[in-house]
Amino acid sequence: MKKQLLLIGGGHAHMVTLANLGNFTDKGFGVTVIQPSEYHYYSGMGPGMLGGTYQPEEIRFATRRQVEAKGGRFVLGKAYRIDPHKRLVYLEGTEEEIPFDVLSCNAGSYVPRDNMGGHFPNVFTPKPIEELLLAKKMILELAKARQIRVAVIGSGPSAVEIAGNIHQLCLRQGATMPQIQLFGGRSFMSGRPPRIRRLVKKILLLKGIEILEAGHVRRIDNERIYLENGQEYPSDLTFAAVGVKPSQIFARSGLPIGQDGGLQVNEYLQSIRYQNIFGGGDCIHFAAEPLDKVGVYAVRQNPVLYHNLLACLEDRPLVKFVPGGKYLLIYNLGDGDGVLGKWSFAFAGKLAFSIKDWIDRRFIKTFQENIDTP
Ligand SMILES: Cc1cc2nc3c(=O)[nH]c(=O)nc-3n(C[C@H](O)[C@H](O)[C@H](O)COP(=O)(O)OP(=O)(O)OC[C@H]3O[C@@H](n4cnc5c(N)ncnc54)[C@H](O)[C@@H]3O)c2cc1C
Repeated sequence: MKKQLLLIGGGHAHMVTLANLGNFTDKGFGVTVIQPSEYHYYSGMGPGMLGGTYQPEEIRFATRRQVEAKGGRFVLGKAYRIDPHKRLVYLEGTEEEIPFDVLSCNAGSYVPRDNMGGHFPNVFTPKPIEELLLAKKMILELAKARQIRVAVIGSGPSAVEIAGNIHQLCLRQGATMPQIQLFGGRSFMSGRPPRIRRLVKKILLLKGIEILEAGHVRRIDNERIYLENGQEYPSDLTFAAVGVKPSQIFARSGLPIGQDGGLQVNEYLQSIRYQNIFGGGDCIHFAAEPLDKVGVYAVRQNPVLYHNLLACLEDRPLVKFVPGGKYLLIYNLGDGDGVLGKWSFAFAGKLAFSIKDWIDRRFIKTFQENIDTP
C-alpha cells in the first residue's frame, strides 16, 4: 500500500503544503486532510469581515476544493485523538479512524470557555473566525431596536481590532451605535510597547469606545460581566477575546506537550518523541523557544513543513525551522484606521491600515488562486 500523509487542519502553516499537494500525489503518496469546515478562514482579516470591509468569501480558502483538485481526500470532521503506535487518528463523534505514515498537525488554537461560566448564546469568541459572522448578525439585529451594550473582554490584538470594527460595522450599516466597553484587565495592552498602547488607545477613545482598566473579569454570563473587584456591568453581547490555548488533541493523546498543551516539537517541527509526527502554527510548542501565537510564525513555518513532510515520506534529511527576528504587527482598528508597529517604531493612521490591507489581500490571493492551478 502507498504511504499515507495525513494533515489535521488546513491552517496557516499548511498553506504551502496544500498548494503543492500535487507533488505528493504525483509521487504516489496518498494524502488526506481532516478539517471541521470546508473552508479555512484567514484570521488576520477576520475583524475586517466583522466590520464589513471584507466578505466571507474574500478571506477564506476553499480547502476541500483545493485538496480534491489535487488528488487528495478531504474528510469533514474534527480530529479527536491520535494513536502514535497504531498510527491512527480518531474523529470526534464517529467510529472512523484514519491511518497515517506521516502526520502533520495544524489544528490551531481555541479560546477556553471554562472560566467564563459556560456557553451562552450572546457570548462570542474570536475563534473560530466563523463566530465573528454570527456575532455580526446578532449585533445588527439587536441594534435595530435600541442602543445596546457590547462588551469586549481582553486587550490583545484581537480584542482591540474587534472593538474598532464593531464601531465600523454600525457606522456603515446606519445602525444605532452601541455603547462599546473594552475590559482591558488591570492595564490596557500590558506587555506591548508603550507607544503602540498610546496610539491604539487614542484611536479607540476617539471612536467613543470606553476602556476599563479596573481589574480582570472573573466571570461572564449572558447579560453581565463580573470583575474581580466585585463590580458588575450589564452587556447585551459579549466578546471574550481572552487569549488562546493550543488544540487539546495532543494532551488527550498522551503525546509530549509543552506547558500550554501544544504539541512539543523540535527544530524540525517534529514531535520530540515520534519522528513521523509534525506540526505548525498555534497548536505547537516550539521547544527551543516558545513562540507567540501569531499567524506570522505559522506562515514562516510553511516551507519547512512542506519540505520535511515530503522528506520524511522519502527518507531524506530534514531542514530546521528558524523563527526569525521581530515581526511586523498592524492593527486594523476599523474605519480605515490602523496602527503599525515593529521594534520600538510605530505609527498610526490610514496608511497603516492600507499597508495591512495590501499585505493581507496579497497573501490570500496567492493561495486562493493556487486552487485553480492543480
Ligand atoms: C481575530 C484575530 C485576529 C488576528 N490577527 C492577526 C494578525 O493580524 N496577524 C497575526 O500574525 N496573527 C493574528 N492573529 C493570530 C493568528 O490568527 C493565529 O496565530 C493563527 O490563526 C494561527 O494559525 P493556525 O493555522 O495555527 O490556526 P488556525 O487559524 O486556528 O487554523 C487551524 C485550522 O485547523 C482546523 N481545526 C481546528 N480543530 C481541528 C480538529 N480537531 N481537527 C481538524 N482540523 C481542525 C480549523 O478549522 C482551522 O482551519 C489573529 C487572531 C485572531 C483571533
